[in-house]
Amino acid sequence: MSEATEREAICAIGQSIFARGLTAGSSGNISVRTGDGWLMTPTNASLGRLDPARLSKLDHDGRLVSGDAPTKESFLHRVMYDERPATGAVVHLHSTHSVAVSCLAEIDPEDVLPPITAYYVMRVGRLPLIPYFRPGDLALAEAVRGFAGKHHAVLLANHGPVVAGSNLDAAVNAIEELEETAKLYLLLRGADTRYLTRSQVMELQG
Ligand SMILES: [Zn+2]
Repeated sequence: MSEATEREAICAIGQSIFARGLTAGSSGNISVRTGDGWLMTPTNASLGRLDPARLSKLDHDGRLVSGDAPTKESFLHRVMYDERPATGAVVHLHSTHSVAVSCLAEIDPEDVLPPITAYYVMRVGRLPLIPYFRPGDLALAEAVRGFAGKHHAVLLANHGPVVAGSNLDAAVNAIEELEETAKLYLLLRGADTRYLTRSQVMELQG
């Protein structure tokens, strides 16, 4: 895919995410690996109103080559690319239901959501909870690094999900599946629920 096409794709997906209320205000950020570095959404930019020409272009060392300054959460993206060489795109959202689940005292930090649907198991799998850090604390990057090698999706406590994919569509589909599953979990909370069984989950993991 050409860089111009990638720029258009980031803006179109950002607009779609924002329009559906999957992240609000200027929260949420998207990055895509290119042949010579990364394209990333700028700091303080609403995903609903991105300009292809103003996306942050970073070189292999993460230095700004052109466009606006990158999101202050760029380190979350860099950790995923560093630890997962096959990653082509990373998406981070403050999506309401995932954030709500990340605040619950009852969740298992080693695997936050139960296997409610097959698609969740296939697109997200095991989801670890990363402890809370204040915004901008680089210790968060190191905490994510500890999980990124084994998990393409992590949930930041009282904050939101970070998901890596082989390309932008894969990352977006997985983070949307995570958000829908968080919503289902909250809908089912308190109800006597049949989740997928251990053998059903193993069958999907093949
Ligand atoms: Zn964030």
